[in-house]
Amino acid sequence: MKVNAYAAKEAAGKLEAYTYELDALGPEEVDIKVAYCGVCHSDLSMINNEWGMTQYPLVPGHEIVGEVVATGNSVKNIAVGDKVGLGWLSESCMSCQECMSGNHHLCGNNQATIVGRHGGFADHVRGHWSWAIPLPKDIDLSKAGPLLCGGITVFNPIIISGVKPTDRVGVIGIGGLGHMALKFLKHWGCEVTAFSSNPDKKEMILGMGANKVINSRDPKELESIAGTLNFILNTTNVTLDWNSYLTTLAPQGKFHTVGAVLEPMAIPAFSLLSGEKTVGGSPIGSPAVTKTMLDFCVRHNIYPTVEEFPMSKVNEAMQHLEDGKARFRIILKND
Ligand code: NAP
Ligand code: ZN
Repeated sequence: MKVNAYAAKEAAGKLEAYTYELDALGPEEVDIKVAYCGVCHSDLSMINNEWGMTQYPLVPGHEIVGEVVATGNSVKNIAVGDKVGLGWLSESCMSCQECMSGNHHLCGNNQATIVGRHGGFADHVRGHWSWAIPLPKDIDLSKAGPLLCGGITVFNPIIISGVKPTDRVGVIGIGGLGHMALKFLKHWGCEVTAFSSNPDKKEMILGMGANKVINSRDPKELESIAGTLNFILNTTNVTLDWNSYLTTLAPQGKFHTVGAVLEPMAIPAFSLLSGEKTVGGSPIGSPAVTKTMLDFCVRHNIYPTVEEFPMSKVNEAMQHLEDGKARFRIILKND
């Protein structure tokens, strides 16, 4: 099958129309006709080769929703015509300890949708059945794409860190991931403090349910809430005053990053010791937790706040994200 896509040919290159050929479908693979694809900051980082692992030509796009158009002979859970989502991962080994425990996202042989394979800025994309997540029937397809990467990335830490409805929590960076985290935590029952560097976003952030907004770059403001938060989720990829954030944690509080901070994070041991505080991180989440998240979203009508661009305007969309103008997640729509 011929796939019509958009690819970057070099680091920081513009996306250009690019056609490639998919060979015969493997027994456990499915082909998906892309309806919508969200734009994640990781797409930008991959285009710019910020993580040193980009292979060009790169077809970005890993927040995909669409319809299954072909299934391999051994695919049992999905049929042609089903609506599915595909996120950061497209394949797991299915036999290691992690896969056998349901933690497919921790499999050492995972294949990412846009690393060594071509992603969803395209009319079609291919993946293993395990990562083609069946969508709940009442889901709004036009807004669901970002849940498949950004959404699950911020939902999973709530589960693995055991965040309680009675907790006071903080979210650093109210962009694509951060605004979804804010909505999830609000519906979870938590008191949510948003840490944002952009005062222009304040009213919208409060409108999404934050109890308060604090300047993420002002240590004085952070000091005013010292010792209060049970859980902090960082979604930025920049260097902030991490020690001040540790100070805002209550005893036994947890600091968790999903933001791919590009520089090493300076964490003073003494800021952890006396209050039994912990620091951690995580990638996306498992297929099962993704399914649970999608059901939670439909039940509570939780969707990202999106801006839609036609797929053909993909370069304008990337620029909009790079300029920090996205409110709050960009979605590309195929014709
Ligand atoms: P995004 O939409 O660009 O949002 C990032 C937010 O960080 C911005 O909206 C901004 O929030 C804040 N920020 C940016 N520059 C800043 C600066 N100089 N100082 C302070 N704050 C700043 O990005 P995203 O798509 O949400 O992705 C966020 C990060 O998560 C990226 O590193 C991405 O690669 C990573 N990621 C990780 C996983 C995973 O599996 N762990 C999955 C997906 C994405 P304010 O305007 O509110 O300050
Ligand atoms: Zn992503």
